Amino acid sequence: MSSAPPAGVTLSVVVPMYNEQDALPALVERLRPVLDGIGVSYEVVAVDDGSADKTAVLLQDVRAGWPELRVVRLRRNCGHQAALTAGLHRAVGAYVASIDADLQDPPEKIPEMLELARARELDVVYGVRDDRSTDSNFKRRTAGAYYWLVRRLAGKQVPAQAGDFRLLSREAVEALKSLPDQQQVYRLLVPWLGFPSGEVRYQRDERVAGETKYPVTKMVRLAVDSVTGFSAAPLRIATWLGVVSFFTCLGLLVFSLTAYASGHTVPGWTSLFVGILFIGGVQLICVGLLGEYIGRIYTAVQRRPTYFVAHDSARDPGREPAWEPGGGGA
Ligand code: UDP
Ligand code: MG
Repeated sequence: MSSAPPAGVTLSVVVPMYNEQDALPALVERLRPVLDGIGVSYEVVAVDDGSADKTAVLLQDVRAGWPELRVVRLRRNCGHQAALTAGLHRAVGAYVASIDADLQDPPEKIPEMLELARARELDVVYGVRDDRSTDSNFKRRTAGAYYWLVRRLAGKQVPAQAGDFRLLSREAVEALKSLPDQQQVYRLLVPWLGFPSGEVRYQRDERVAGETKYPVTKMVRLAVDSVTGFSAAPLRIATWLGVVSFFTCLGLLVFSLTAYASGHTVPGWTSLFVGILFIGGVQLICVGLLGEYIGRIYTAVQRRPTYFVAHDSARDPGREPAWEPGGGGA
C-alpha cells in the first residue's frame, strides 16, 4: 500500500476517544507539553469514536489553539480497536504512538519510546504495565486470565500486560494496514508480525476522570475476538468432548447391559434425565464454538469497513495538506 508520510511529520499520536469529555482537558494539558518538548514535528490524531457527549465540541475548541491536533470523527461508536484502526490509517508520521485518552498510560513515556526505537532501530516499542495496583481487583484478575489465555493460544511472543499503549514504526504500521483482518486485536497482531521490539515499563495510573468505556460485554467481545482470531484450538474442544462422551457412554453401555442380563434393571429416570441434559449441553457448547468461527467467516466475506469517518479536520477547507494515506475503512 502506498503512503509515504509527507516530509516532516516524525511522530503521530493516535488517541481513540469515546465519551471522554471529562478526561479530555486533563489529557490535553499533559500531552501537549510532552510532545512540544520532544523537538520533533508531530501530529495528534484524535479519533472520536461516535461520542454522544461533548467530546466532539471540546476537540474542535482545542484544535483552534493547537494546530497539530487532527480530529477524525467516526459516524457512530465502532469500538476501541476500530477507532485505533481509523487512527492508524490516517496517521502520517514516521513513528506512530497510540495512547488511551484517560491518562492511565503516562504520555511522558512517549519520548522514551521514540528514543528507544531510534537508538536501537526498533519497529515496535511496547508500553508494559509493571504495576496494576490502581486497577480494580476484578480488572486485574480478568486481565491476568486474558493474558494467560492469549499467550498460550497466540504464542509467547505476546508480551503480558502490554495493552494498546505502544509505538510503531512506519514500516510496522504499513504491515498492519496491509492485513485483511476485520476484527483486529492489535495487542496480538503487532507481536505476531515479528518486528524487532523493545519495552518501556510504566505504572498504570487510575483513570483521570469519567467511567471506563469497557463494560464486561466489550471485555468479553475483545477476549472472544482475541481467541478466535488467533487459534482454532476451541474447535478442538468439540472433538475432545466427543471423545470423553463416547468413552463415558461405552462404560455406561457395559454397565446397563450387565444390569439387564442379571435382571437388575433400575427405574432410570434420573440417569436418563442427566444424560440428556449433559449431551444437550455439550452439543450447544460445540455449536456455539462453531458459530463463533462461522461469524468470523461471515464478517470476512462481507468485507464491510470496520469504521465510518464522518469528518476529518485535515480535510477542512483551507487546510493543507488533505492527508489521506490510503487504506480501507471509509
Ligand atoms: N474507547 C473507544 N471506543 C470504545 C470504548 C473505548 O474509543 O467503544 C477508548 C476510550 O475512550 C479510551 C480507550 O478506548 O481512550 C480505552 O478505554 P477505557 O479506558 O475505558 O478502558 P479500560 O482502561 O477501562 O480498559
Ligand atoms: Mg482506561
